[in-house]
Order: sequence, then structure tokens, then C-alpha cells
Amino acid sequence: MSMKGKGFMTQALHAEGHAKPMNAHTMPIFQSSTFYFDSPEHGADLFAHRTEGHIYTRIANPTVEAYERVMACLEGGEQSIAFSSGLAAIHASIMSIAGHGDHVVSGDTLYGPTVHLIGQVMARFGVETTFVDTSDLGAVESALKPNTRVLFLETPANPTCRISDLAALSRIAHAGGATVVVDATFATPYFLKPLERGADVSVHSTTKFINGHGDVVGGIVTTNAKKASVIRKFRTDTGACPSPMDAFLSLRGLRTLGLRMERHNTNALEVAKFLQSHPKVNRVYFHGLPDDPGHETAKREMSGFGATFSFDMAGGFDAAKGLLERVEMITLAVSLGTLDTLIQHPASMTHASLSAEQMKAQGVTPEMVRIHVGLEEPEDLSAVREDALQQL
Ligand SMILES: *Cc1c(COP(=O)(O)O)cnc(C)c1O
Repeated sequence: MSMKGKGFMTQALHAEGHAKPMNAHTMPIFQSSTFYFDSPEHGADLFAHRTEGHIYTRIANPTVEAYERVMACLEGGEQSIAFSSGLAAIHASIMSIAGHGDHVVSGDTLYGPTVHLIGQVMARFGVETTFVDTSDLGAVESALKPNTRVLFLETPANPTCRISDLAALSRIAHAGGATVVVDATFATPYFLKPLERGADVSVHSTTKFINGHGDVVGGIVTTNAKKASVIRKFRTDTGACPSPMDAFLSLRGLRTLGLRMERHNTNALEVAKFLQSHPKVNRVYFHGLPDDPGHETAKREMSGFGATFSFDMAGGFDAAKGLLERVEMITLAVSLGTLDTLIQHPASMTHASLSAEQMKAQGVTPEMVRIHVGLEEPEDLSAVREDALQQL
């Protein structure tokens, strides 16, 4: 049955399609590294792509494929390719396009380890990168060179929730011959479909909202069939495949993504407004707030805002540290997208490996705290926040 035009939750529950073995209602976990051939000819036909079927789990696995079908549908793309981590997905998306002697333009506000992947690891393989503020269209345009193959960015960007205009950026990048790769982990396809905004490749750390239960590390890429076959081959060649178990859990996460994002979003807006009005908080960085610089673009590009954002404590670093020491129930941990609320300090945790200069470019301040707002009852969250802030 065609899923075209169906709503997000319907697609999440039914896009899997394909009859399942032994009348199983839920796609089983094909916890098998290899698949037997009926005959030598059958094996040879599979390797020569003369017949469809499975050979080896690093190449393809039925549970992983079911998960990829659902994700492709939710992203409005032709194909998805699942990975063992978000970073593996980012690596494959960029390095299957750019190689030695090529140039990349990248957003300058990124998940910390992504800065290392692009700025150091890829640099060692001869890929040169210019980091720019992608919310500044002119800066992106002037950073493009004749050998620029990829424009890579996060929107909303971690940790300051900077919003970039994907529609405008895609026009600029395409005019310069570059492929647009977007890490939309903070938004999820429930709130932002990068391909529908003009981007070519959408990437997610599924560790976060997509799996949503804090028990899997994974990534996924969605794009057109032509690019997908190149990225899929890159995954096979580099061995960055997910385990069938992780694909099963992530697919289960996708089935409730829409419901969870609604509640995450409502809770986060409430927490953000509370923090904004609190005298012990200097500034809240969240595009869901009407006076945020990214709010108008976010409203145009997204159907909701998400649940992870940062704020600066008025009392500087000591106040930020004090808050982390005093919060109860809220877990002091990095990551996001979990069912429960998490809090962390970017300058000493997720972004600690950046140089002072990189931190400045990213807008990471010593007094900044990042919160991921979970699905708890809103009144319980506000009680906890108030208690912690009062004690400072
Ligand atoms: C977590 C995260 C990543 C990296 O994903 P892993 O699954 O940890 O490899 C990349 N981008 C963003 C925005 C993230 O939050």
C-alpha cells in the first residue's frame, strides 16, 4: 500500500510493508551474521545481483532494511542507509562525495566530535574545510570554491540551537556545484525534513530522539537512490553497519517518534519560558522562543522546535556548576533524545575538546548549561528546576 500523502504516525506504523516471515506481526531480529545459499548458482547469482536476497549482515540484513524503509518514508526520501553511529553516518555522507584535493564548507557550530572528524581526520585524508556561520548566507557564498564538493551543517546546531535557512543555502550551494548534507539530529524528521527543504542528504544520530530510549548508539542517512547506492557501498567497505538488534530497537523507536516529539516539544517550551523569566538565568538559546534570532526561520522550515537547548547562568561558571550539583531527578549526563531529562555543561563536557577559539566561534560560554527536556510531567519538572535554582 502506498504511503504517499499519509500522516507521519501512519507512515511510522505502516511504511515497513513487506510480508514478515512466519506471519510475525513485528519484524523479527535477524540475529544472523551470514545467510545460506540454496546452491552454488544461487550464491553466484546473489553476488552478481542477478537475484535478490541476503548474503552477509555487513552488506544487508532484513531487520536493518525494514528500519531503513520506514526512515526513508518518514524523511520523504528514496532510500535510507543505517549506520553503527551518528559519526559513522556523517563520515560516510561526506567522504563518499569528497576526496583528496576537494574542499568542504562546514557550519562552525557543530557537535564537538564532528568538528574533529571534519577538521582533523578528514584533513589528514586531504579534504580541506572552511568553517563558516551558516546562518549568514553571504558567508557561505563567499566560502565556496571551484573544488567545493559538500556543504555540511547542523540545524538546529548544537549547542546554541542556531538555525540555518536550508532552502536558501541549498540554492547557493547547488549553484556552486556542492552537495548539501544536513545533520538534523536535534529536529528529527517529525519537525524537519531536510530533503523537502532542498538539501540532498539528511543525516541523524539515531542515538538521540529516533531510537529515543537511550539504549542504542546509531546513525542513519537518507538521500536519493543514486547517492544512496554510493553511500551504501561506502558502509560495506568501511564496515560501519549497525547490528540487527540495534536496528530493531531503532525501528521500535521510530514507531512512537511523533508522539514523543509532541510531548518533548511542549515540555521544552515550558521549561525554556520558565528559564527565560528567571533572574538567575542570563540568556536562553532556543529557537522555540519568539525573540530568538532563529525563530522566524525555524517557523518557516520546521513544524516544531525540539527539546534540547542551552542557557547561560547569570552567576557565571560557578552558577552553572552549582546548578548541575543541585538538580535532582534530572540526570547529569551527555546525550539527548532520551525519555527522561538530561543536563550537562558543554564547555567541560561535550565541547571540552575544542580550542578556546573554536569555542568562541561556536558561541560556547563557560556559564552555558545544556538541557534535554524529557517526557516527565511538566509540573514535576518545574518543581525540580525551581528547587535547584533557588538554592544557588
Ligand atoms: C550525538 C550527535 C552526533 C554523533 O552521533 P553518535 O551517534 O554519538 O555517533 C552527531 N551530531 C549531533 C547533532 C549529535 O547530537
